[in-house]
Amino acid sequence: MRMTKQRTAILEALKSVKTHPTADEVYEMVRSVNPRISLGTVYRNLEAMASEGVIQKLEGFGSKKRFDGDISRHYHIECIRCGRVDDIFIDQLMDIEKKIQTATNYKVTGHSIEFVGICPSCKT
Ligand SMILES: [Zn+2]
Ligand SMILES: [Zn+2]
Repeated sequence: MRMTKQRTAILEALKSVKTHPTADEVYEMVRSVNPRISLGTVYRNLEAMASEGVIQKLEGFGSKKRFDGDISRHYHIECIRCGRVDDIFIDQLMDIEKKIQTATNYKVTGHSIEFVGICPSCKT
């Protein structure tokens, strides 16, 4: 797929935040600089970029899909009160992959774990 102007705008918007926005939130961000863009275009481009591995799609956080412009391997934690999603940069749990490989005889190529909790601002 060619890198259209709209696609570049969507990618830049996503990479500019650390909030793991939903497609609707990305749309709001992109629309402020590119008012003619449609929600459908934003959805389509996000899905396409996620399947190409240009961005990450986070499933299982609340009811809405969220997107991440950071494709390095990292974990996420979601606040059960306000729904915010933060990055966790710790060493990947490689031991678990080895254990699962032994237990299942699969060649494990990756894993995803979601953490939930109460964020610092909701805790107080
Ligand atoms: Zn919170
Ligand atoms: Zn992230």
